[in-house]
Amino acid sequence: METKVWLVDKFVDELITYPQVQEAAGFLQKNEVVAFPTETVYGLGGNAQSDKAVERIFKAKGRPSDNPLIIHIADSQQLGKFVSEIPEKAAILIEKFWPGPLTIIFNKKEGVLSDLATAGLSTVAVRMPDHPLALAVIKAAGLPIAAPSANLSGRPSPTTARHVQDDLFGRISGILDGGPTGVGVESTVIDCTENIPVILRPGGVTAEQLQEVLGEVRFDPALTDSAQAPKSPGMKYRHYAPDAPFYLVDAGKPFIQELILQKQAEGLTVGVLTTEEAKDFYKADIVYSCGHRNRLETVAEALYDTLRAFNNTNADIIFGEVFPEKGVGTAVMNRLKKASGHNIITE
Ligand code: AMP
Ligand code: MG
Repeated sequence: METKVWLVDKFVDELITYPQVQEAAGFLQKNEVVAFPTETVYGLGGNAQSDKAVERIFKAKGRPSDNPLIIHIADSQQLGKFVSEIPEKAAILIEKFWPGPLTIIFNKKEGVLSDLATAGLSTVAVRMPDHPLALAVIKAAGLPIAAPSANLSGRPSPTTARHVQDDLFGRISGILDGGPTGVGVESTVIDCTENIPVILRPGGVTAEQLQEVLGEVRFDPALTDSAQAPKSPGMKYRHYAPDAPFYLVDAGKPFIQELILQKQAEGLTVGVLTTEEAKDFYKADIVYSCGHRNRLETVAEALYDTLRAFNNTNADIIFGEVFPEKGVGTAVMNRLKKASGHNIITE
């Protein structure tokens, strides 16, 4: 399949009138699939009302069909077409956080969206992305757009058009290249179908921010107890993993350095995932720095690019530092734990 790549300057006015945006929207209207940037990661968009388009998304990504997609909209008026009600707490969240990295689960109206997009559930996940190019292409298409992250299933999500090309070139109809994304980790998913909202996936909007406007919020118990089945089907899959075995190390730098030396003594090429603060401390074969530990949003922003970068090295094993689970650090640690397959070494 030919994959068109459209370069677009996301800062220009009237983006919706640009021929690249119009052509991409035309593809979406023909039920073809197109990747575009959002403020979190690149999404692979398709018409959420079309089985054909949604099938194409699952096929291109190799995504398990029981993992439902997030529906992206450009205008909250679109919501009433396919959700059965907007609970009061959801309305508060929409007002405060949309457009933005917050996905809200609603009860759905039957018969409007493709059942494949919602994996046959009675609920639907919706968000309005805070990115001018995403909003322009969704508006131009005039459709609700199902858009999971634009990576091959299991790999780190894409934060640049280059990452999308590496995974999906030849498998999708087009890529709108609007430069690197900002937040770097996916949206927070919150279920508002229950009286007390439940966070199913930590992400760009922090639990602290949600608590501030909602009062009480709960976490899906599966987020901390791997014996529980997650309420968000996608959370059960291994995800974000680099090719080489990846271990998180919950210990000080000297202990991590010891591990590096041990593995090198066994003849292995060893990588370490650290931050600017500690990158000069380690003596390893590959030392990659991922933002500044004292500003966790910079770690989130660089995380997937750094995990992906290890795949271009000959690392046999990678050790990664852990981060405090507060603010966006909760989302960072959720992704790192998944990338490690929950293999965490302690001192
Ligand atoms: P991705 O599209 O890769 O960002 O993943 C979307 C996430 O939202 C996955 O973890 C899905 O399982 C989750 N999700 C989508 N729809 C629903 C829903 N109706 N109920 C619960 N989780 C959902
Ligand atoms: Mg994904």
